[in-house]
Amino acid sequence: MYFQQNYILMAYLDRVLDPPVYGWSDSEGMLSKPTSKQLLTEFFKRLNIFRCKKNWLAFFSWSRVILLVPLVFLFFFKFFTIPLLVVFFIYSMIAMGTHGTIWHHRYCTHQAYTFRNKFWRFLTQNLTISMIPEEIYVVSHHVHHAKSDQPGDPYNASGGFLYCFLADVNHQPIAKSLSEEDYNRTVGLMKHTGVNANNYTQYLKWGSVTHPGLALMYCVMNWSFWYVLFFLIGGHALGCTIFASAAFWAVGVRTFNYEGHGKGEDKRRTGIDFNQKDMSINQLWPGFVAGEWHNNHHLYPKSARTGFLPHQIDFAWYYIWVLNKLGLVTSYHDSKKDFHHRYAKPYKRKKQENDEVQEQVAEPAVKLRSADQVML
Ligand SMILES: [Zn+2]
Ligand SMILES: [Zn+2]
Repeated sequence: MYFQQNYILMAYLDRVLDPPVYGWSDSEGMLSKPTSKQLLTEFFKRLNIFRCKKNWLAFFSWSRVILLVPLVFLFFFKFFTIPLLVVFFIYSMIAMGTHGTIWHHRYCTHQAYTFRNKFWRFLTQNLTISMIPEEIYVVSHHVHHAKSDQPGDPYNASGGFLYCFLADVNHQPIAKSLSEEDYNRTVGLMKHTGVNANNYTQYLKWGSVTHPGLALMYCVMNWSFWYVLFFLIGGHALGCTIFASAAFWAVGVRTFNYEGHGKGEDKRRTGIDFNQKDMSINQLWPGFVAGEWHNNHHLYPKSARTGFLPHQIDFAWYYIWVLNKLGLVTSYHDSKKDFHHRYAKPYKRKKQENDEVQEQVAEPAVKLRSADQVML
């Protein structure tokens, strides 16, 4: 029964994303590695809403970044001060990064925890400036876990930097001609997020779960709220700084999937990266600023905490933990104990045993050397 369900799920994940023109794999079943020119051609083709209005979501996602570029210039050339640079850094790296982990990753995709009610879900969703549409992230991320570092992985690091950087346009949008059953299944993946889903007729028109009108309205409301608030606190200087930093993050985060899977090389380290099924690695920077300990996460995708070792700070987990203590998050998965029981402790034990054996082997050699010296 389990294998049958798993087979059906894998078959669904095989067809849920819109395949790029260069395909996921070549004739031998290996990863199809497009050239930069192929990647860029596909990128601009799939951004073109005049060619096909079903491209609207990818266009909308990048438009948010482009719209904020003037604010980046204003920040650097008009309002720049060192304290604002600190604000820029903290908001971009920690606030936006941690929110991405809390909301898009751990809640929307993996359902690692549950909210008491819709209000706390809404508040968490809008805790920062909205930059990445949930739909683009969630559906493709399920495929990423099912096919990590295999052909079909939407941000397969072996495809190279551009393959990953342009993934939200080239590889992550859902297929445009799903059957009604597949579409309903896709809506099911998003249901708990509170995103209002298109009916099947609307999907056939717009090619997405989200309706463009609602997405636009939601974005305008989110941006207006935050800009007015920052303006009231610190004028246009603060408004520009924080919105510019959100744009900076939105571009930077597109590099994460390439780095988080070792840039296409095996960079896993013994005693740190215990998951050996894919090339994901635990990196200090994404871990410290966003709680994204990616190798741990691939080991326990449904865990609301991924910082398992003492040095692995996890701000996203602290937020979920505090909300739970306040009764606003009612349940969560936490795999820390299991991680230590299955991986960290056995590793430590084995390492200690190996160290002791090495010491014992080394000792007689030392004694032998000193005996030789006496003989001489
Ligand atoms: Zn990954
Ligand atoms: Zn994940």
